[in-house]
Amino acid sequence: GNLKALSVEEPVRVKSKNLDVLAEYEKSRQKKAANFVVIGHVDAGKSTLMGRLLADLNAIDKRTMEKYRREAEKIGKGSFAFAWVLDQGSEERARGVTIDIATNQFETDNTRFTIVDAPGHRDFIPNMIAGASQADFAVLVIDAGTGNFESGLKGQTKEHALLVRSMGVQKVVVAVNKMDTVSWSKDRFDEIEQQVSSFLTTAGFQAKNLSFIPCSGYHGDNITRRSENPNAAWYTGSLLIEELETSEPFSHALDRPLRMTIGDVFRGGVQNPLSISGRIDAGSLQVGDSLLVMPSGESALIKGLERDGEPGDWAVAGQNVILHLANIDPIHLRSGDIVCSPVSPIQNVQSFTTKVLAFDHLMPMQIDVHRGRLHVSGRISRLVATLDKGSGVAIKKKPKIVSPGTIARIVVEIDQPAPLEAPSRVVLRAAGETVAAGLLE
Ligand code: GDP
Repeated sequence: GNLKALSVEEPVRVKSKNLDVLAEYEKSRQKKAANFVVIGHVDAGKSTLMGRLLADLNAIDKRTMEKYRREAEKIGKGSFAFAWVLDQGSEERARGVTIDIATNQFETDNTRFTIVDAPGHRDFIPNMIAGASQADFAVLVIDAGTGNFESGLKGQTKEHALLVRSMGVQKVVVAVNKMDTVSWSKDRFDEIEQQVSSFLTTAGFQAKNLSFIPCSGYHGDNITRRSENPNAAWYTGSLLIEELETSEPFSHALDRPLRMTIGDVFRGGVQNPLSISGRIDAGSLQVGDSLLVMPSGESALIKGLERDGEPGDWAVAGQNVILHLANIDPIHLRSGDIVCSPVSPIQNVQSFTTKVLAFDHLMPMQIDVHRGRLHVSGRISRLVATLDKGSGVAIKKKPKIVSPGTIARIVVEIDQPAPLEAPSRVVLRAAGETVAAGLLE
């Protein structure tokens, strides 16, 4: 009897302020939150460019930047200083200091940006898939250097572009980088714009969702300030940062039921013994709300929260949050689980239809399904049709096999019921390799 009495805890009660969260959000004129993924060939200058953005927008303090600069100069590689800004982030991540994959943040007057992957990793594709599954848009970095651009377009650039498109990313900002190495040649820029846009439209992007900016991450030209190089005077269009600011969130889902995928679960805090982090995919929440955790179906109470790193009462779709929870046993909380509204919960399903880009041959076969950090085993049970990349119209119904590079509609059955619904981004893997990625229908 005693033992039992000891283990039963009084449920925590938190009074809800019953806020009209959407009205609060409007009132607060919260900065727009935009997540993006950086893609492009190795050595195109992704790290340098992103480090430059973070440094120019004071996301990193001057003293730390100076330290990197001195260290980089010591080994004779000035621009590495910027790349190190990002490496710093991934080290912090490894030590568990920062949360989720959302570590690299910077902001302008009207937008708070999160770079949802750390470029330059050796194991880039899995990272990029994780990033792309949270991205509102992609930044494609192209090396303008003669010869480099042509080889880049054949290699990773193509793979990355198809991947983000198949994950539902619609907008691409193309940074035509290293313009200093081609003396800011307008001809070169025009040629690249023409080739890359025809390549991206074939991959299914609409021309109106593409923009091209000639820049130099190394020199900081046309990133947050206009190039002063006289050879660059022909370009009068947007700076990179201005173009990033025009982005819209992947889905305007503020008024839909709450959905949030758990990124990480934190235990053992003094004030907050149990917390979860993640980005709210849809809907809104506030302190005092009860939540349903799927697939376990257990409920929990939001006892406090941090929104983009600051304590708050509420949060909406698009924002990165930490939720401090009570009245739930941590064994019911796993990274990849979905937190939803008990009023309109997400359903556990046993099978689903998805439109995917194939990276490998697809046929009826065993696979693992990844949705963010959720993964379940299952199998491809039916190949419905192969589809045209641009229009999505069926080309061949009931194919026997789908070849790599093809877009197809398939049916997947999973071994245990899991919370999956449209328009989630899913990745299919087999034997440790990504075989397909796409959107649930
Ligand atoms: P990543 O592999 O795409 O992340 O590329 P990095 O940022 O590591 O850059 C690759 C190399 O290109 C490094 O030696 C950089 O110093 C150099 N680099 C990057 N941006 C520029 C640029 O705008 N101009 C020039 N000349 N070199 C650059």
